[in-house]
Amino acid sequence: MAETPYDPQNIFAKILRGEIPSHRVYEDQSVVAFMDVMPQGPGHTLVVPKAPSRNLLDADPAALGPLLKAVQKVALAVRKAFEADGVTILQFNEPASGQTVYHLHIHVIPRFEGIALKPHTGVMEKPEVLADDADKIRKALV
Ligand code: 5GP
Repeated sequence: MAETPYDPQNIFAKILRGEIPSHRVYEDQSVVAFMDVMPQGPGHTLVVPKAPSRNLLDADPAALGPLLKAVQKVALAVRKAFEADGVTILQFNEPASGQTVYHLHIHVIPRFEGIALKPHTGVMEKPEVLADDADKIRKALV
């Protein structure tokens, strides 16, 4: 099956280039993490490799080690920041799976006993709530 090429105009590429704003919580030489604007729960964070790939299927395997390390770091921080009972990690590949933004990213979502996730790409969160949540996560990272 022919691969769909990477589109450098996707929204996360623009966020990585600083062309549109985001609530960043973490950055290292390989990844950036920022708040999801339509969170499925409080503290829903996206961990995004700087290297361009459409999703996991076309990613350079060398990018995956640093990406997963950052996911663990962010997962520990969101658990601490929100006193979560657990953390869900999600990652979608191609439209049939639910992918809507075509730059590889991993969802890190704090979870609480008995509380279901809100719908994927549901309601836009208020910027002040995202800013406050990002601040909590940044503090838990240090
Ligand atoms: P996907 O369906 O591709 O796995 O997830 C894309 C995620 O990006 C969704 O959870 C959606 O809420 C989030 N999202 C879409 N547009 C933006 C945006 O402009 N900024 C941020 N921070 N998140 C976005």
